[in-house]
Amino acid sequence: MSIGRDTPSTGRALAARALAVEPFHVMRLLGRARELEALGRSIVHLEIGEPDFATPEPIQAAGQRALSEGLTHYTPAAGLGKLRQAIAEHYARRYGVSVGAERILVAPGASGALQLVFSALLEPGDRVLLGDPSYPCYRQVLRLLGAEPQCVPVGADSDFQLTTERAEEVWLPGTRALVVASPANPTGSVLDAPALADLYTLCRERGAALIVDEIYQGLVYQVPDVTALALGREDLYVINSFSKYFGMTGWRLGWVAGPAEAIGVMDRLAQNLFIAANTPAQHAALAAFEPETLDILEERRRAFEARRDFLLPRLRELGFQIPNRPDGAFYLYAELPERVEMDSMAFASGLLEEVGVAVTPGQDFGDHKAGRYVRFAYTRELDRLAEGVERIAAYLARF
Ligand code: PMP
Repeated sequence: MSIGRDTPSTGRALAARALAVEPFHVMRLLGRARELEALGRSIVHLEIGEPDFATPEPIQAAGQRALSEGLTHYTPAAGLGKLRQAIAEHYARRYGVSVGAERILVAPGASGALQLVFSALLEPGDRVLLGDPSYPCYRQVLRLLGAEPQCVPVGADSDFQLTTERAEEVWLPGTRALVVASPANPTGSVLDAPALADLYTLCRERGAALIVDEIYQGLVYQVPDVTALALGREDLYVINSFSKYFGMTGWRLGWVAGPAEAIGVMDRLAQNLFIAANTPAQHAALAAFEPETLDILEERRRAFEARRDFLLPRLRELGFQIPNRPDGAFYLYAELPERVEMDSMAFASGLLEEVGVAVTPGQDFGDHKAGRYVRFAYTRELDRLAEGVERIAAYLARF
């Protein structure tokens, strides 16, 4: 059913800007995968963008303690002081970066943090540079706010990241911000410190804001785990979350580090938009930086690395093109083997229906060659990945 401005069921028209927000193709595929499972089919899920591991036990225990102690009232809009402090200390201990707790605001996930940053920074009509492919919510939320995403095709030659050269080429008078993610979704590609410094310098020269989404921070393999905050600049926005590395997707908790003045504005926005982030989740997250938890997370990081090291060469053997080794997150973004002539949406549907493997079509992440790419999430155990590879091989045998 298509919903238009004259939808009769609501009795009035829905807002055009809301109707313009697109759903994710992967949700339809996931829905179909669940239907097939209900019919008794076995499905290998390589589409799911969250860790398969449960929230680490010390975090769960802290959350349960918070509930039993009645810590269920609102917190300040910027988050519990103790949690902001714990995040600041984590940056100091792990990354040698000094960022004051007053420059950190706790939000309902990186999603909430992104909404606050975009709302604080952008006027209607402002342009924001993004790589294509990139995480779809950036452009959807920008459009909802009346800003204009400027999606710049990026490919394997720049490790699917925006470079300063590319940004300079496409820069327009109304360009007010640039968003990068490192490690990135859907490509797993990681920006190193010099690349971040170059992007920062360009933005600074042009009076634009650099927004770095570090939600997959910590999930890096064989490369340094860096943060843009190490540039030591205050006028920069870093988004992060407890969702991925800390295994807390469903708790809905993230944060943003930014200039003190902007944090003040975001505090007011947060008060009005959602009052504060989830309280028991904030108490639970205090246990996220405990040595005991960090040991568990390091073990999981190694498990993800082993999975990447298993899946990458096997997909290449099957003819998927992944020229650069993706060094972070838990994704491989692969170009379909040349002999596959269908587009990635049809490929993903066929793969699911015929052999029971779910992947995400490139169309969820942009337009640039999206019909030739699929994203594999290695968020399953090695034996399931092996099963997935066998099934994909069987499917490919028919081309
Ligand atoms: N940024 C990126 C790049 C993501 O992949 C995601 C989740 N898939 C988010 C932000 C939002 O995550 P959350 O709100 O759970 O922190």
